[in-house]
Amino acid sequence: MAYIKDPYEMAVEQLHQVAKLLDLDKGLVRYLEKPKRSVEVSIPVVMDNGEVQVFTGYRVHHNDALGPCKGGIRYHPQVTLNEVKALAMWMTWKTATVEIPYGGAKGGVLCDPSKMSTREIEKLTRRYIVNILDIIGPFKDVPAPDVNTNPQVMAWIMDTYSMYHGYAIPEVVTGKPLTVGGLPGRLEATGRGCIVIMKEMLKKLNMDSSKITIAIQGFGNVGYFAAKTAHEFGYKVVAVSDVMGGIYNPDGIDPDDAKAYSDKTGSVVNYPKAKTITNEELLALDVDVLIPAAIEGTIHAKNADNIKAKVIIEGANGPVTPEADKILLEKGTVIVPDILANAGGVTASYLEWQQNLHREYWDIEEVRKRLAHKLTRAFEQVYDMSKKEDVSMRMGAYMIAVKRVVDALIARGIWP
Ligand code: NAD
Repeated sequence: MAYIKDPYEMAVEQLHQVAKLLDLDKGLVRYLEKPKRSVEVSIPVVMDNGEVQVFTGYRVHHNDALGPCKGGIRYHPQVTLNEVKALAMWMTWKTATVEIPYGGAKGGVLCDPSKMSTREIEKLTRRYIVNILDIIGPFKDVPAPDVNTNPQVMAWIMDTYSMYHGYAIPEVVTGKPLTVGGLPGRLEATGRGCIVIMKEMLKKLNMDSSKITIAIQGFGNVGYFAAKTAHEFGYKVVAVSDVMGGIYNPDGIDPDDAKAYSDKTGSVVNYPKAKTITNEELLALDVDVLIPAAIEGTIHAKNADNIKAKVIIEGANGPVTPEADKILLEKGTVIVPDILANAGGVTASYLEWQQNLHREYWDIEEVRKRLAHKLTRAFEQVYDMSKKEDVSMRMGAYMIAVKRVVDALIARGIWP
């Protein structure tokens, strides 16, 4: 992944910054720096050509003081243990920020699914799950989709785990297809959550109006559903982009129409109802809100100064590097951090787990209502903390999250 520096080092550095603000005991900081467990597994797979290939997989539990560990599984050729450790720590803070009773986890397998058949991906998934079977479970660690994993992969995980236990256990994994206990609205939840949070932020800044213009980098799951929800809420999405480039129309872009074009051609580039621009041009547009929803580190020290948006909503994980964060804060840009802005996904996962544990099926209206309630409440708490402590929204969120985890650790005590 395109991190500017080692992601785990970055995560530890952030923890140290918050620890200073909270005046945390040094021993507790040492405790939180390290994951509870990091597991590395070898995954042998007989490929379609009969050859055996052995893949490396990781599963990291950062902390479970508040509840079962929770976090996605990514399939990517450049996954590293340090990346997974960092992502697991960020999951601890994310679940604590939105006050859901989970800890933080993450998983990754070094592979390139674009070069594998469906059957090979299924075999890899099932063997990976068997190799980490002892450390996952509805009350231990509940995986979910992440980069290059999808509802089908989650269904294989549910099936593998259930086969080993002899009965159906849908609550072992979230992000499943609807037919096996998936949640209506799970797919849209992260992008939708970004807009729910954006609306609250704009209200605080007295900017909430139909004149708001938005540029969105990344037109995948998060970017597309953010664009679609923004359009539905009456805001004007003037630019979107994917890895190939972007499109801009000051009069607004219809997200579904652009998506239909991109589904047909493989990219939004050359969409006939807008001007084609580069990703760098999109980031520098004179808009009210910028939503980076592609990958980490796209806003960095070299382009932060070009950004004109007054508000940044971090749809992606870690899209603004620490250097860029500093530059933007000095310019007065308001940044809603990823652990709050994109927490709609994990919040919906929590709702899916609850729905499964209760053996119920909820409808989408119920899900949207619960999602908006959780996110709005978390937003208010982070906003109030940032005002009270005179810190950025990012530091406000971290202060709330780390304190919640530390309070739980202190209440539980360090055993034995
Ligand atoms: P995705 O693969 O569906 O979409 C990614 C989009 O970004 C695609 O349009 C791709 O073309 C574009 N892109 C990739 N590299 C780019 C680059 N260098 N410049 C510009 N565009 C680029 O992924 P997603 O699920 O939408 O996730 C996007 C981000 O949001 C990731 O950081 C992910 O970790 C984070 N996130 C996702 C969820 C979720 O529920 N999907 C939840 C929380 C956080």
